[in-house]
Amino acid sequence: MTAALETRNLVKRFGGFTATNDVTLSVRQGARHALIGPNGAGKTTLINLLTGVLAPNSGQILLGGEEISRLPTHARVGRGLSRTFQINQLFGDFTPLDSMMLAIGERQGHGGMAWRPLSRDRAVADEAAALLKRFRLADAMGVATTLLPYGKQRLLEIALAIAAKPKVLLLDEPAAGVPEEERHEVLSLVRELPADVTVVLIEHDMDLVFSFADRISVLAQGALFAEGTVAEISKDPQVKAIYLGE
Ligand code: ADP
Repeated sequence: MTAALETRNLVKRFGGFTATNDVTLSVRQGARHALIGPNGAGKTTLINLLTGVLAPNSGQILLGGEEISRLPTHARVGRGLSRTFQINQLFGDFTPLDSMMLAIGERQGHGGMAWRPLSRDRAVADEAAALLKRFRLADAMGVATTLLPYGKQRLLEIALAIAAKPKVLLLDEPAAGVPEEERHEVLSLVRELPADVTVVLIEHDMDLVFSFADRISVLAQGALFAEGTVAEISKDPQVKAIYLGE
């Protein structure tokens, strides 16, 4: 079966420093694949290569078997590779309902300028409200995003990414910075993501990784040094040495 997402011999250098060192990675369809590694291992660089924020020096990226290595970010999103939105100032002033309608409009091929006419589109408004409800944001729908608790903002980021109906969703530390009392809500939602969406989770929290992932790839110094199931990786002595101080 064709992999949902693949990299082949991917290399990224910054000057003389190799941040991504010959990374060959295969994520199967429907996987819950975690990408872990200590600080500086090259996780962010790899995500930026996947999304098209950075161009590789060499190597390939394939989405559903199709090469996307040279496509700009928006073209990759259009083909089904999404990452969680970073809530920016624009979205901050919007309510979650506004943002969600905009995200649905984007998926339907309208640009951002189509927002006002869209706001009168009943079907879009209904879909936006239903998605927000499913993502535990029903009470927050009409509140300015910046006024929401941080955990709710993170829920909204994930909800907006799902609205694009991605084939592959890159989830970058979904619970980072979320206060303890709001964490369980974010984690439950991550565990309830649609089964047909392939998820690549970049995460520091090993409890979350071990409870969520069905496969784990470990990066260190830009290179992949281990890959396997949770059972395999959790007993790997090198992984233990790096993560668990054992
Ligand atoms: P991680 O996300 O795993 O912490 P990063 O991908 O952010 O790792 O960084 C990997 C290495 O690449 C680090 O040593 C970092 O200093 C270096 N690096 C990242 N981006 C740049 C850049 N734009 N210029 C130079 N070095 C960079």
